[in-house]
Amino acid sequence: MDDEINEKISLYCVFCKSTSFVVPSDDYQPQPGEMLTCGNCGRENDYDSLMRLAKERALQIAEEKMSKMLKDALKGTGFKIR
Ligand SMILES: [Zn+2]
Repeated sequence: MDDEINEKISLYCVFCKSTSFVVPSDDYQPQPGEMLTCGNCGRENDYDSLMRLAKERALQIAEEKMSKMLKDALKGTGFKIR
């Protein structure tokens, strides 16, 4: 997968959008069904919702990238996308 997309789909708190979570170690990988405590607001996020949001975000970024690439590719050809 694209590095830029990977970077942007990091999990974030559904309440305050913080990307810091209370984890036991730096290489900790949350498992489906787990609750993750936000490091900023302290509320609990369930992993499944976080992953769903992250995927939606990834799709959105991919679409934005595609339309930008398309616009760049069409630059100077006389075609215009509105
Ligand atoms: Zn939070």
